[in-house]
Amino acid sequence: SKIKNEAGKVSSFLTIQEGCDKFCHFCVVPYTRGPEYSRPFNQILDEAKYLAENGTKEIVLLGQNVNAYNDGNYKLSDLILEIEKISEIKRIRYTTSHPKDMTEDLIDVYKNSEKLMPLVHLPVQSGSDKVLDLMNRKHTIDYYLKLFNKLKNINTDIEFSSDFIIGYPGEEEIDFNHTLNLIKEVKFINSYSYVFNPRPGTVAANLDLIENKISSKRLETIQNQLYENQISMNQSLKNKIINVLAQNLTEDGTKIFGRSEYPPPPSDMCIFCIEPFSAVSPKFSNVSNSKTILSFVSPLIIVVCVSSCSKSKPSSVTIWWPAFVDDESVPSKRSWSLSPACTNIFAPLLGAVVNVSVAPLNVKIVFPIESVVCCKSLLTKSFISA
Ligand code: SF4
Repeated sequence: SKIKNEAGKVSSFLTIQEGCDKFCHFCVVPYTRGPEYSRPFNQILDEAKYLAENGTKEIVLLGQNVNAYNDGNYKLSDLILEIEKISEIKRIRYTTSHPKDMTEDLIDVYKNSEKLMPLVHLPVQSGSDKVLDLMNRKHTIDYYLKLFNKLKNINTDIEFSSDFIIGYPGEEEIDFNHTLNLIKEVKFINSYSYVFNPRPGTVAANLDLIENKISSKRLETIQNQLYENQISMNQSLKNKIINVLAQNLTEDGTKIFGRSEYPPPPSDMCIFCIEPFSAVSPKFSNVSNSKTILSFVSPLIIVVCVSSCSKSKPSSVTIWWPAFVDDESVPSKRSWSLSPACTNIFAPLLGAVVNVSVAPLNVKIVFPIESVVCCKSLLTKSFISA
């Protein structure tokens, strides 16, 4: 089901900047949105505090050129470090960035911030300097890789995602191969990619198009590579503990989704990663007076979600695994019924940051005890294999 994303919920967008001065030859934004404009710093901070008071745990700072933010006194780095001080806010993200505006002060924030998520969405568009020049992108691949290396040196867990335009007029096979090689080198974990589509009024609007058959084939090739990167990223989570923000109910109110640190909104690829498909027997145990472990014994990575007949009356737990698990013989999900007495259990999980340990044989989710304090014994008694 589609995830609801109501304003004031766990994750909120906050626009800080609009417009663009870059004039990439394929893009209408500078014509439709006008020049870069940054909203006043204090106004944004007030809004961030208001969102926090109303339940927001994750703020996603938005702008067409978000990292060009500059209100005359403050830059994006200042904004992130100031929002970081709001105790209710657990996570900060920003999108969309331009490589040219990835300044040293912003890179340094990755050293100093506890709440800035380790996913850098930094559109590169092509892996070929020739094509980047034709696009008027104002950066080279060498420059992009320097940014990549600086960030990786700060924190090896930082991952990149990007946008790619395939079949831009003038893209030859060798240029395309540069793009493919860049995708392999950077290992982008989650990217948008599409065949060039001319926009009226832009410089690229009237250029000679590459044959559609060629562009489509190239797109398929890079999407396969991006998919491989994603699989290997997901598989690398095995045996690791990841933080998951219990984020939202699905539209029908029957499931809770959590989001790991990596997927950028608006992606709804999110995940309580666990795995079962042998007999999974959930068990609760206290590890301290502030933590409860729900553990599953099972052999693969999967997604765990909580089902309920309404937001406040959960009726079952459903566990299933995402598409990246290749074995088609594995059933796609398994459910356990909950006793009708288990009410108001899962709604409090929304907004909690949950530690999920992804292990092939013994998967544990650690909930803050206040989220499950009233339901531990009820749940333990009421799991019934479907
Ligand atoms: Fe500006 Fe981005 Fe459009 Fe380029 S692609 S003109 S940087 S909004």
